[in-house]
Amino acid sequence: MIKVYLKKNIAPRIANGHPWIYANEVDRVAGQPEAGDIVEIHYSDGKLTGLGYINPKSQILVRLLSRKAIPIDEKFFFNRILGAWNYRKKLGYTENCRLIFGESDYLPALIIDKFGDYFVIQTLSLGIDKWKPAIVDALNEIFKPKGIYERNDVPVRSLEGLEQQKGFLSTPFDTNIIIKENGLQFYVDIANGQKTGYFLDQQHNRTAIKNIVKDADVLGAFTYTGTFEIHAAHYGAKTVLGIDISEQAVLQANKNAVLNKLDHICKFEAMNAFDVLKEWGKQGPKYDVVMLDPPAFTKSRGNIENALTGYKEINLRGMKLIRNGGFLVTSSCTNLVSPDLFLSAIEAAAKDAHKKLRQVVYQSQSPDHPTIRGIDNTNYLKFLIVEVTGT
Ligand code: SAH
Repeated sequence: MIKVYLKKNIAPRIANGHPWIYANEVDRVAGQPEAGDIVEIHYSDGKLTGLGYINPKSQILVRLLSRKAIPIDEKFFFNRILGAWNYRKKLGYTENCRLIFGESDYLPALIIDKFGDYFVIQTLSLGIDKWKPAIVDALNEIFKPKGIYERNDVPVRSLEGLEQQKGFLSTPFDTNIIIKENGLQFYVDIANGQKTGYFLDQQHNRTAIKNIVKDADVLGAFTYTGTFEIHAAHYGAKTVLGIDISEQAVLQANKNAVLNKLDHICKFEAMNAFDVLKEWGKQGPKYDVVMLDPPAFTKSRGNIENALTGYKEINLRGMKLIRNGGFLVTSSCTNLVSPDLFLSAIEAAAKDAHKKLRQVVYQSQSPDHPTIRGIDNTNYLKFLIVEVTGT
């Protein structure tokens, strides 16, 4: 097996468990690796760091799969996936969950969402893409699924020299499925929805709004298929309006409201949330609860400041729409914006809006997207509920 030797002074990151090795952290490679090969990684003193896959085309030269010298083969992937499923079951998941959350499950760049009997896969690096057949075999063996679909239509694959593609990895099936969550039902468009079709990471956060939405007038911005808003109606909201810029998402959200017999309470409209928040903030309807769940604001370090300005702006405007003593439910999925930075943007917004905040809930993504200490980008979702009062 080809051996990769790390420089003497490597970042403590690797020793502390982070699975990424950048090209500039490598002293030498003994042999001529092909992209996707499994290689042995060693510290400069010759001790084994672990085994991983290499891609000379990628800035991340190697991603570690194991810290131990065990064979990386079909059985390895079967065991990792089974282990991840057993962990989810221990946490109480039975139907829907993120089954594999990449680095958090020691399978870098692999995402698998389980929607009942259906599975959606993303293989985001060349090294993991090569093992797709083994991964599909493992899913077939463990779950006997009704369908498996690949959502590799994501630009990040180009960094690895991979094509974007999507399609069936099982016999074709109707990709518009219905899933159950907290006693509600949702259509999920596995083939054409955003990301894998559904945002499982907010699953337990959706239940956190249960008490504050009772008898409330609720506005949800960046609603996607209406999951938070339909939960709000289910938990006793008086009126709910959800807005999203995507006509497709709004169509699906309205269908979801009908599916749950909550369409007399829940309405969805296709609008630009940035414009709506700006205009209504000056003059317009007021709400007891405003919920914000925008898409990631940046993927590059150079834009973090702009992202923070964006968070401050929309939250400030959101706060202005809230009746005295109402609640703001606000999320951020921008990986590069740390919890501290996000919370300070919210504080700055409150100051400028002359509002006082009282924290009800602060948490991260659902536990089926485990956060690993030492792997920063596994702690990406910020979810905050605050009571908002005038100063
Ligand atoms: N809350 C949702 C997920 C939201 S994802 C859930 O839990 O399922 C972010 C959403 O923001 C996407 O649906 C996207 O279409 C929408 N979006 C992006 N830009 C927008 C804009 N300017 N105005 C309104 N919605 C926007």
